[in-house]
Amino acid sequence: MQKSPDLLDMIKALISTPSVSSVNPALDQGNRAVIDLLANWLSTLGWQTEILPIENQPNKANLIATLGSGPGGLVFSGHTDTVPWDEGRWNHDPFRLSRQDGRLYGLGTADMKAFLGLAIEAASDFSPAQFKEPLILVATADEETSMSGARALVAAGRPQARYAIIGEPTGLQPVRMHKGILMESIHLRGRSGHSSDPGLGNSALEGMQKVLNTLTDWRKELQTGNINNLFRIPVPTLNLGHIHGGDNPNRICGDCELHLDLRPLPGMELTDLREILHDRVRKTLEDSGLEISFKALATGTPAMDTPASSEIVKFTEALTGYSAAAVAFGTEAPYFNQMGIDTVVLGPGDIDQAHQPDEYLDEARIQPMIKLLRELIMRFCINPPGRTD
Ligand SMILES: [Zn+2]
Repeated sequence: MQKSPDLLDMIKALISTPSVSSVNPALDQGNRAVIDLLANWLSTLGWQTEILPIENQPNKANLIATLGSGPGGLVFSGHTDTVPWDEGRWNHDPFRLSRQDGRLYGLGTADMKAFLGLAIEAASDFSPAQFKEPLILVATADEETSMSGARALVAAGRPQARYAIIGEPTGLQPVRMHKGILMESIHLRGRSGHSSDPGLGNSALEGMQKVLNTLTDWRKELQTGNINNLFRIPVPTLNLGHIHGGDNPNRICGDCELHLDLRPLPGMELTDLREILHDRVRKTLEDSGLEISFKALATGTPAMDTPASSEIVKFTEALTGYSAAAVAFGTEAPYFNQMGIDTVVLGPGDIDQAHQPDEYLDEARIQPMIKLLRELIMRFCINPPGRTD
């Protein structure tokens, strides 16, 4: 097998290949160049590589690369896109890896392109002939925006494996839970008219007032009935984040729109919650004569919930000395869990540096992370649980 490129060179190349994903098409760059870079390295190193284009997005793709063969398998996964950067607020060039005071600065060092380099480096110690189960490297598109990469994997039913590690920034601590995210717009249409005669119109704003009361009542119910003490905020949250209605004090308000953000705990299904939300709003405005429309503001992220009893949870807890935690950010993990792959989020960066100017990865985290990945390969590819042959 060929020797892998120098780790620092790999991280350098990953950072200097821009892959910003944004809902704003002017900023969106696609991830294809990063996918091609990885695929080239990996195929030279003897991995089977497959690039899976994302439908209707010609500059975006997922990569599945496999080393060794057999049943089951262990996945190391990372997203290849980054968030946009704050022009003028970086002291370093976001697209040129710079090393200073034991830190590697660059966009995607912590969150999370560098992890993919670490995964390749960790695997380079092994020969695929040693593997009873394969090691699979997955690199995805669009985690920061639509999760279209992870969704495409679920639609294709790929990869197939038993366990996965996603190297999002968790400061080398295993994570097995996060909340879901649902963002919805509620739009009410009434009838405008002169303020001097209420009979001339139907106020959407006053209708929204009733909806707001319904929603805060619902929040109270949700927070009494659902508690999970692994989370710092142990209850589901419902934030009323944006409202706009009407134009002038002397006109009856004809249109009013509210945007809300609901973060459910594991076990609360997004589709059920959306249905309940719509029912309650409709019931509140039953006889109002107002027209109601709903719109999802983003494709929701399901909550992540990998059982504490899973082998990969127990093993990463033993390796790191931390019990698996719950975090406040969303990841692609629930999609891997949907495919029957027990998933732990565990990576070398810190979430505090993600999505920030001067994002960096602490160099002291690199060797411990590579060691963790090697132990995982030993355990799940070379001596897989339940296989003693
Ligand atoms: Zn990330």
